[in-house]
Amino acid sequence: MNYSPKEIHIIGAGLAGCEAAWQASRSGCQVVLYEMKPHQYSPAHHSPHFAELVCSNSLKSNSLDNASGLLKEELRFLNSVIISKADAHKIPAGSALAVDRSTFSEDITATLEKEKNITVVRQEITGIPSEGMVIIATGPLTSPALSEHLKNLIGNEFLYFHDAVSPIVETDSIDFSKAFKASRYNKGDADYINCPLSQEQYYAFVNELTRAETVPLKEFETLIPYEGCMPVEVMAARGVETLAFGPMKPVGLTDPHTGRRPYAVIQLRQENQEGNLYNMVGFQTRLKWPEQKRVFSMIPGLSAASFVRYGSLHRNTYIHSPTLLLKTLQLKSNPRIFFAGQITGVEGYVESAAMGLVAGIQASRFALGLNPVTPPATTMTGALLSYITSPYSINFQPMNANFGILPPFDPAVRKRERKQKYAERALQAIKDWGNSLIK
Ligand SMILES: Cc1cc2nc3c(=O)[nH]c(=O)nc-3n(C[C@H](O)[C@H](O)[C@H](O)COP(=O)(O)OP(=O)(O)OC[C@H]3O[C@@H](n4cnc5c(N)ncnc54)[C@H](O)[C@@H]3O)c2cc1C
Repeated sequence: MNYSPKEIHIIGAGLAGCEAAWQASRSGCQVVLYEMKPHQYSPAHHSPHFAELVCSNSLKSNSLDNASGLLKEELRFLNSVIISKADAHKIPAGSALAVDRSTFSEDITATLEKEKNITVVRQEITGIPSEGMVIIATGPLTSPALSEHLKNLIGNEFLYFHDAVSPIVETDSIDFSKAFKASRYNKGDADYINCPLSQEQYYAFVNELTRAETVPLKEFETLIPYEGCMPVEVMAARGVETLAFGPMKPVGLTDPHTGRRPYAVIQLRQENQEGNLYNMVGFQTRLKWPEQKRVFSMIPGLSAASFVRYGSLHRNTYIHSPTLLLKTLQLKSNPRIFFAGQITGVEGYVESAAMGLVAGIQASRFALGLNPVTPPATTMTGALLSYITSPYSINFQPMNANFGILPPFDPAVRKRERKQKYAERALQAIKDWGNSLIK
């Protein structure tokens, strides 16, 4: 196959690849969009059409006091094909944006196939073209042959095949009359937030944890290797004391409220530079979200915790973007190669589309010889981009849209007004950014 250096080759016509193709073609670039369906399907894809919603038909909330709602509104302003088609194929679902998944995908496929700057090639790509610009948007279930190629391109240690995500809470929702900051044996700074449990509290917690409802495993997920990232409920089921000798061990910690060593401890580690988010160390879980809320609220200090992301364990192909990518989603070691969508380490349909939009805009600016311009971090799109490319993200795990990743106001805004202020600031910033692209 011959590749022209002026063309943009997009691999994968999912949420991200379609959005990237649309943005690049609308910027006047020639796009070749590769999709392996219908010749080959991932274990979760079944329809020959593009932008297939592999599970839920909901793109989550449409409301501006919800982070996903804000992200969608930003994408609407930036002429997103995914969101405009979702709006066009909306079905009743309260404040959520749910769609008729068949007509949604069919319409996107027909729209991109008709677009004059886009050529569709139905073929599995097993290696990155050696010339021209490339956007890799092959998603969480990238085909095995291409995954193998990516290992060689970026290094085996920077490509992951599943995620084991612990819940993340907002720091100011933690009750410090119960929790305390300390490191084990007071070594170094007091980097951890510790939630101490008495023996009685610990037994009650383990009891609920082992009885709580979990998300059923998908058939193709049963072979996930769990070493080092076993779900906390599976560990708890192995014996009532297992967690007290594992992720909840209290060694080296004294509760300043009682002056004693607790029976067990849950530690939370800082998640972002601002320190307004903390993750529960070793608490990867397959519990259903309402069950996580119910059971984890039993933990002293977390009874009113605000969870910005719940724990999960999935099969998921993604790269270590903080090491590998520039803020433009270009590979640092080879700037003609961009990544987009869930493979960059975002999580969710709309988040994946957002990273497709950014990659499409950046790749076309690169192709047209224009300066790179990244969306401001005060927007949800920019905040996601900052999160996945921040060198601060040492313990990098996939992230969904949430208000905790936005830079806080200085001076602080009252919690009651915060979401509205964040949304106002983000929408103004995305409009200014979007208008600057047109010039
Ligand atoms: C089982 C499962 C359920 C999920 N459920 C939800 C949910 O309910 N809600 C939610 O918000 N998010 C969900 N996600 C997460 C995520 O948002 C979606 O996977 C989303 O579709 C990711 O978008 P994407 O464009 O990055 O990848 P995809 O939408 O998966 O698109 C990638 C495309 O690339 C193609 N492809 C792969 N390899 C190649 C290759 N070598 N050559 C050519 N084409 C290739 C694939 O066929 C596919 O069409 C789920 C993920 C999985 C795996």
